[in-house]
Amino acid sequence: MREAVTDCPDCTQARAQRWWGAYANGCTGCAARAVARSGAAINAGRDPETLDRTIARAMPGLTPDAALQLVREWWQQDHATEEPTT
Ligand SMILES: [Zn+2]
Repeated sequence: MREAVTDCPDCTQARAQRWWGAYANGCTGCAARAVARSGAAINAGRDPETLDRTIARAMPGLTPDAALQLVREWWQQDHATEEPTT
């Protein structure tokens, strides 16, 4: 099982540049970022099961909690400058 990769160039770039669109093969961080931008994440409020399935498929090496945490972090990264919806 891979840790969240910090030396992945695409993950590094994505942290510096919002909506960076490249993903490295086999990188857990990139997989989480892809899930965070998928329809499954956008619709998670009313369809959490699809998100769970998508996460399990994208990051089979992580526990669901750890994988969900990574997805949340990328979601927050991408939406950091938007107004809170609460
Ligand atoms: Zn990556």
